Amino acid sequence: MSYVDEVLEQLKKKNASEPEFLQAATEVLDSLRPVIDANEQLYRKEAILERITEPDRQIMFRVPWVDDNGQVQVNRGFRVQFNNAIGPYKGGLRLHPSVNLGIIKFLGFEQIFKNSLTTLPIGGGKGGSDFDPKGKSDREIMAFCQSFMTELSKYIGADVDVPAGDIGTGAREIGFMFGQYKRIQGMFEGVLTGKGLTWGGSLARTQATGYGLLYLTDALWRDHGKSLEGKTAAVSGSGNVAIYAIEKAQQLGVKVVTCSDSTGWIYDPEGIDVALLKEVKEVKRARLTEYAAAKSSAQYFEKKNGEHGVWQYKVDLALPCATQNELDLEDAKMLVSNGVTSVTEGANMPTTLEATKYLQENGVLFVGGKAANAGGVATSALEMSQNSERLSWTFEEVDSKLKGIMETIYANISDAAKRYNMTVGGNDDYVAGANIAGFEKVVDAML
Ligand code: GLU
Repeated sequence: MSYVDEVLEQLKKKNASEPEFLQAATEVLDSLRPVIDANEQLYRKEAILERITEPDRQIMFRVPWVDDNGQVQVNRGFRVQFNNAIGPYKGGLRLHPSVNLGIIKFLGFEQIFKNSLTTLPIGGGKGGSDFDPKGKSDREIMAFCQSFMTELSKYIGADVDVPAGDIGTGAREIGFMFGQYKRIQGMFEGVLTGKGLTWGGSLARTQATGYGLLYLTDALWRDHGKSLEGKTAAVSGSGNVAIYAIEKAQQLGVKVVTCSDSTGWIYDPEGIDVALLKEVKEVKRARLTEYAAAKSSAQYFEKKNGEHGVWQYKVDLALPCATQNELDLEDAKMLVSNGVTSVTEGANMPTTLEATKYLQENGVLFVGGKAANAGGVATSALEMSQNSERLSWTFEEVDSKLKGIMETIYANISDAAKRYNMTVGGNDDYVAGANIAGFEKVVDAML
């Protein structure tokens, strides 16, 4: 049996209750076969695959907090410190009721390779809690964040582990957590990224994931002799990634006709109004029904199981920016039959394994989140640099570095695919290219 198959078998036994982690590990190890086969003896002796799929440590803790009725609530907190071969653990904190150890492990595993792809010195980690921020008051959010950080503060530090935002964690939550860290440790250090601008945050960090996604998509299209100008896009999600993906897409001349939240989606044939979307989601923290109520060209549809949602429209590019496994095989078939040219992922693992395969085999240009959404964490690393040198760079400086990084990522993943002759559906296999390029650097450092 090949080394990859052996390790996948072991993982299935050891992590049977963690389907998302198994999905991510299978995708990565499968696509690394040519690299692993070429180095089999060395990697076996060094147990590289066993080591890279087992986190350095997994921290789980109780998060008690008091709600507005004076009732004590208890949530579970997680921080998975996966791999620090190339730099301090780095990765976001997800606050969502679906969070469990398997989900945090899958995200932390992906983060190792994503962070390696940024070309910057950051290792992989991820954390979060099953706390649901929906419908909570500011005071309740503060109480939760302070309690969460009271425990987490023992395990992190500017050169140890640097958490950041993810689903459910934005500037407000980072602010509450940073304040608590300072109070406990008595230290002002760049221990979190995505901080407010007046206390060490970086300009362009808010925009970075969405903007970076479009910089990479633009590089992909240009490399294939195509231009984004005048094209139409479907976006899912309406959080931080989706909003700034839509904004940058429009700056590049793309009309974005959809966005979504957990209960439904918007179809707006005139193009999404970003200012209105920001007002509804960022200022009012309201549902998309408010967007539809304020704009006559927009229709709101309630989501029902088995429907294609935002993936049913005739578009040139699809930008999944919501959450894992939101684009399945049936959605992929719909997109292909409508002639989609590219699918580039703003979220982490939004496309299922079967859907990814179908899109690639049918000639769609597909770049996974590891490469396509790396602009967020890359800009977090730029925030760490600014904190270390006690300087703040201009928006233009950060944005141009971000653009350069995304273009380099694209060049590196297509180069890696070419080096190993990884092609699919007539294109370079960018999924394999991203895994290979990310893996090579980390393994070199581990060895
Ligand atoms: N949560 C983001 C990601 O998935 C950003 C992490 C960070 O900035 O550390 O990459």
